[in-house]
Amino acid sequence: GAYCLTEPGAGSDANSGKTTAQLSEDGKSYKINGQKMWISNAGFCSLMIVFARIEDDKNITGFIVEYDSENPNGITLGEEEHKLGIRASSTRQVFFNDTIVPADNMLAGRGEGFKIAMNALNVGRIKLAAACLDSQRRILTTAVQYANERKQFKTPIADFGAIKTKLAEMAASAYAGESATYRAAKNIEDRIALREAAGNSHQEAELKGVEEYAIECSILKVAVSEDVQNCADEGIQIFGGMGFSEETPMEAAWRDARIARIYEGTNEINRMLSVGMLVKKAMKGHVDLLGPAQAVQEELMGIPSFETPDYSELFSEEKEMIKKLKKTFLMVAGGAVQKYGQDLEEHQQLLIAAADILIEIYMAESAILRTEKNAKRFGEASQSAQIAMAKLYLYHAVDIVEEKGKESIISFAEGDEQRMMLMGLKRFTKYTNYPDIVDLRIEIAEKVKSENKYCF
Ligand SMILES: Cc1cc2nc3c(=O)[nH]c(=O)nc-3n(C[C@H](O)[C@H](O)[C@H](O)COP(=O)(O)OP(=O)(O)OC[C@H]3O[C@@H](n4cnc5c(N)ncnc54)[C@H](O)[C@@H]3O)c2cc1C
Repeated sequence: GAYCLTEPGAGSDANSGKTTAQLSEDGKSYKINGQKMWISNAGFCSLMIVFARIEDDKNITGFIVEYDSENPNGITLGEEEHKLGIRASSTRQVFFNDTIVPADNMLAGRGEGFKIAMNALNVGRIKLAAACLDSQRRILTTAVQYANERKQFKTPIADFGAIKTKLAEMAASAYAGESATYRAAKNIEDRIALREAAGNSHQEAELKGVEEYAIECSILKVAVSEDVQNCADEGIQIFGGMGFSEETPMEAAWRDARIARIYEGTNEINRMLSVGMLVKKAMKGHVDLLGPAQAVQEELMGIPSFETPDYSELFSEEKEMIKKLKKTFLMVAGGAVQKYGQDLEEHQQLLIAAADILIEIYMAESAILRTEKNAKRFGEASQSAQIAMAKLYLYHAVDIVEEKGKESIISFAEGDEQRMMLMGLKRFTKYTNYPDIVDLRIEIAEKVKSENKYCF
C-alpha cells in the first residue's frame, strides 16, 4: 500500500493540500483530482490511502483508493525519484485525474483525515525509531568486525583509543535508543491492553493507546534518527578510505540513514511537536507542569542543602541527576510558558531547546531504568558494560541539558531572575562524583571488541 499525503505545496504543512474530492450527484462516489509527491511504494502498490479536501473543509478527508495499472482509473505515476538513499524503495509522484472512488471508501468521517494522518504518523515514528535502531546495531557490528581485523602500525585499529572512543559512543547511543524504544513500546502495549479490557475495540484501543504516547513517539523518532546518522558517520571513519567506497556497506548506511530525519515529520517539526503537545496537555489540565515548575522556582529561592548524600547504591547519583534534569526542564519550559503563554509557538528556538532537554532526559532515564532492572534480575556483574553505557549516555545528556538550558534562560529571563535560574541550572547539572568517562568508554569498547558485535 501507499500513503498519499504530501503534495508539492504541502509537506510539513500537511493539512494544506490542494487535492480535492467531489461528491457525485447521486451521492455514491467521490471524484479525486490532484497531485501527490514523494509517495513510497507507489511503483508497486495496489492500494492507496489518499488525503483530499471536500469543498472548503478546514480539514482533509482520507479515502481508500484501489490502484490497478491495467485499469488505472485516472491515476498516473511520475518517474522513479533519483534519491540519495533508500534506493531499493519506490518513490514516485502520483497524479489523480477524475479518479472515481466509492463513497463508502471514505476513512472514518468527512474532515477526519488529518487526525488519521497524524495518528498513522505517531505509530510510524516509533516504528521508524525501531528500524533505525536495527540499522545502528548492524553498523556497530560491521564497524567492530572491521576494526578487529584491520591492522595499522602492526596493531588492530580496534586497540587504538581513538577507535575505542567511537565504538563505545556508538554502543552507548544504540543502547539508550533501544532502551527508550522498548520502554515506549511496552507502555503503548500496556495501554492498549488496558483500553481493551475496559471495552474499547482493538482498533480504538490501538489508536488511543498510541496517541497517549505521541510525545514519546516524536522523541524517539528524533533521537534515534540522529543517532543512526552519527553512528554511520563514525562507521565510515572506522573504515577509513574503504568507508568512502561503494564496495563497503558504510556509505550506503550513511545515505540510507539520512531520510529518517526528514520523513514521518521532519525532526524540526517533531521537536516542536513534542514540547507543544506537552504544553497543550498541561494547559488542558491533563498533566501538571506549572505546579512542579512553581515548586522548582521556590526551591531556587531557598537555601541549597550542603549535605553529601550517600550514593553508594547502583545508580543512586544518576537517578538523582535525572530528577535534577527534570527540574531543569520544568524551570525552562515553565519559565518560557509563563513569559510567552500562547505565543510560545512563535519562539521556535526555545521550543527546540526545550525539546532537546526532554529528549535527553527520556533517553538517559530509559537506559538507567532498563539497566537497573537487569542488574536486579541478573546481578550487577553481568551488567557491567550496560552500567557503563547508561552512565556515559547520562554524562553527555547533562552537558546538552546545561547548554540548552543556558541559552533558553538567557533568552527569556533577565536580571535577578536570570541570575537565579542560571545558578539553579548549575546546581541541577552538577555531579557530586563525576564519572570517569575515559574509563567507561574503555570498558564498553573492550566488551564490544571481545564479542565482535553489538551484544546487549
Ligand atoms: C524518500 C521519501 C519518501 C517519502 N514517503 C512519503 C510517503 O510515502 N507519503 C507521503 O505522504 N510523504 C512522503 N514523503 C514526504 C515527507 O514526509 C516530506 O518530505 C516531509 O514531511 C517534509 O516535507 P517537505 O519535503 O515539503 O519539506 P518542507 O515542509 O518544505 O520543509 C523544509 C524545511 O523547513 C522546515 N520547516 C517546515 N515547516 C516549518 C515550521 N513550521 N517551522 C520550522 N521549520 C519548518 C522543515 O523542518 C525542513 O527542514 C517522503 C519523502 C521522501 C524524501
